[in-house]
Amino acid sequence: MACAKISHPSSHRSFGALLWALLLVVCTAPAARAFDTVVLDAGHGDFDRGAAIGYVYEKHLALDTTRRVEELLKKAGLKVIMTRSRDVFIPLPGRAAVGNRYGNAIFVSIHYNYNRGGSGSGVETYHYSTKSYTLAAYIQAYLVQRTSMSNRGVKHASFHVIRETTRNPAVLVECGFVSNSTERGRMMTGEFRKRIAEGIAQGIVSYKKAN
Ligand SMILES: [Zn+2]
Repeated sequence: MACAKISHPSSHRSFGALLWALLLVVCTAPAARAFDTVVLDAGHGDFDRGAAIGYVYEKHLALDTTRRVEELLKKAGLKVIMTRSRDVFIPLPGRAAVGNRYGNAIFVSIHYNYNRGGSGSGVETYHYSTKSYTLAAYIQAYLVQRTSMSNRGVKHASFHVIRETTRNPAVLVECGFVSNSTERGRMMTGEFRKRIAEGIAQGIVSYKKAN
């Protein structure tokens, strides 16, 4: 099917916008690929707190969110491998090594964001390799739809874990800004982290179905 350029709809929060976003992905991106295993990587751990404001630490938010994604994906019939299930530190090469250990797998690293001044807001999903773009776009679209967070888009970056996970599609999700007091207030609630997890899991499951 030939696809023309499509202008972005006025609202990025509606279900219609989600469909537009996914249509763009289907039209322009490399095909999704078969997989039965999801490697989930909760960012940071132990002495590496990640973004931290007061007693709110990214390492805790990321682990809780990742566990919720794990549960949802298992319910959907996928195998899940966690790089960490506890508050431990795993060096970045060790995380990428797990991402490269399995064939027929994808790798999803889960983080929360930080910027100086606290003005940053919204969610964004990073890819490094071209083959990872479609997975990033699916996760980003469902994450925005499920949470109504502002859409910072799909971005390219050379973060270690997604650059060095070469065997499989690999993405890194930033689920909102710890440094933004409004977003921090939301992410301290289980209800918000549940929605984040649902968005990520729905993105993964839809990416799989699109294959
Ligand atoms: Zn992080």
